[in-house]
This record gives sequence, C-alpha cells and structure tokens, in this order.
Amino acid sequence: MNVLVLITEEHPDGVVVDADAPHFSPLDQGIHRGDGIFESALLRGGRVRKLDRHLWRLARSAGLVHMDIPGPEQWQTAVERAVEAWDGEATPDDFEGEALIKLMAMRGYGPENPEGHAWVQLTPLARTWRHDGPIRVSLLDRGFDSLAPQRGEWLLVGAKTLSYGINMAAVREAKSRGDHDVIFLTTDGVVLEAPTSTVIVKKGRTLHTTPTEVGVLPGTTQMALYDAAPAHGWDVQYTKLTPQDLFEADAVWLSSSGRLLSQVGWIDGKQLSLDNVAHAELSEILDQNT
Ligand code: PLP
Repeated sequence: MNVLVLITEEHPDGVVVDADAPHFSPLDQGIHRGDGIFESALLRGGRVRKLDRHLWRLARSAGLVHMDIPGPEQWQTAVERAVEAWDGEATPDDFEGEALIKLMAMRGYGPENPEGHAWVQLTPLARTWRHDGPIRVSLLDRGFDSLAPQRGEWLLVGAKTLSYGINMAAVREAKSRGDHDVIFLTTDGVVLEAPTSTVIVKKGRTLHTTPTEVGVLPGTTQMALYDAAPAHGWDVQYTKLTPQDLFEADAVWLSSSGRLLSQVGWIDGKQLSLDNVAHAELSEILDQNT
C-alpha cells in the first residue's frame, strides 16, 4: 500500500489523498522538465530515520533551485500523517515494516500554478534495495571535472533534484555489464559518488569520503555515521579519492538511507579486500544513531 499526503494552501500540514488517483497536471514543470527537488527518508523499526538531516538537505536543494517550499514543521506533520495512514502491509518482495518516505516539491506551470506542488509519499521498501553480500560496481566517467561545481552553482551538482535521468542510465549501463551499481569519477579522475549513494572508504581505523566541493550530494547516512563513529574509536576525513585509493582500501562501502551500508566486493571485475567485522560494527553504529 502506498500513501500520499498533499501539502496545499487549504491543508498546510498535509492531507491524506488517494495514492492511486491523479493529482498533478502533465503541464507541471516538475513533470515535463524534472524541475523539482526531493528527499528519501527511511521508516524502519517504527521511526523515521534522521528526518532532521533530510529537512536540512531539502531546504539546501530548495535554495539552489530557488524554490519556495513548505517549512520544516509542515513537512514533519505531513510525514507523521503518512506514517499514521500506512497499514504496514508488505508483499513478500518488500521488507516487513520498512518504507521509503519521499518528500517531494516541484514547480507547477505558468500563472495558473506558480507555487507548484509539495507532497509526501510513502512506499513499502522493496527487497531490491539491499543485497545480502558484497556488490559489484562499474567505474563510470560522470562527464565533469572536479572544479566544475565552483564554476557555476546553477549546474546544481550537489542539489537533490528530480532530474535523475543520468543516474538511472548509469545504473542500466552497470547492469548491462553484469554489475549492480556505479561509482562515478570526474573527468580528472576523482571519485565522486554512486547514482543514489555516497562512497565511504576504510583505511585502518579511518573513514574517508569525497568532499562535497568536488561535486557530490552531502549524504545524510554518511554524515550520521561521521558524527557517531568517532565516539567508537574511528577517525573520519573528507579526502579527494582516486580509483587507486579504492583498490588499496581495507574496505569500500556505498551508503544511503534506503540501502544503509553495502560493501563493494568488485570494481570493474577486480576483487577488493573486504572487512566484514568493520561492516558489522559500522552498520550497528549507524542503526543506533539514526
Ligand atoms: N548521492 C546521491 C546522488 C543520492 O541520490 C543519494 C541518495 O539520496 C546519496 C548520495 C546518499 O544520500 P543519503 O545517505 O542521504 O540517502
């Protein structure tokens, strides 16, 4: 069962509507231009994980695309309404009791609807989000260099916009190669991120991830882990990583709200070293601190 909560002028704190009925016009800019922003938060163990961080990043994306969106309290209430309205029903293809909660905002069209639409949608979390063991990844060139974000904020490199066409095309390319996912590189060879995840690398008791200035989305999962891990004896750093760093690491993960931590076992068919003890420890730290 999907749940849809619209945030409107008449219902500023959200109203539950029929998720299967049409609510938007094909003329909306968000639909025909991908002109909008979103967040995906995880409902797990009866609580929505790190909603505050998602609200922070949504506001950041809104600033980058110059969109007025509802305030954090409105989103929070709309999310609560969505969770309350969910019957918890899951198919065998979904994780029991887990759901993705998307906070969405898009531009409307013309003078008829200048303020656009804002809504929350809840979808049971499909098992395809996570893998039991290490995953296979392809390295792909993302087509911009590591200084590109500094040349124009309008490139929206670190904004979470609805324009995920390239990200999805990259995953299809990886699948055609027999891999599960992708790690993007800049044209000058810096490790970026995966199409829907952050890259985290372990060397000794130090974790490394790409600094956002290079052109990645600030990952809320990675940030939560970075805030919590030092209390457990980890050092955390932002480092411009190269493919060599990935191949020489003790372990490499992709992190995201839905998938949590996936260990990378192969890059372009080459086997990486794995650290299952660190995987279990970091997964536990993440679970306890989100
Ligand atoms: N990078 C990109 C491009 C993403 O789409 C996502 C997922 O939203 C992430 C990284 C990981 O972000 P988070 O940990 O907040 O889910």
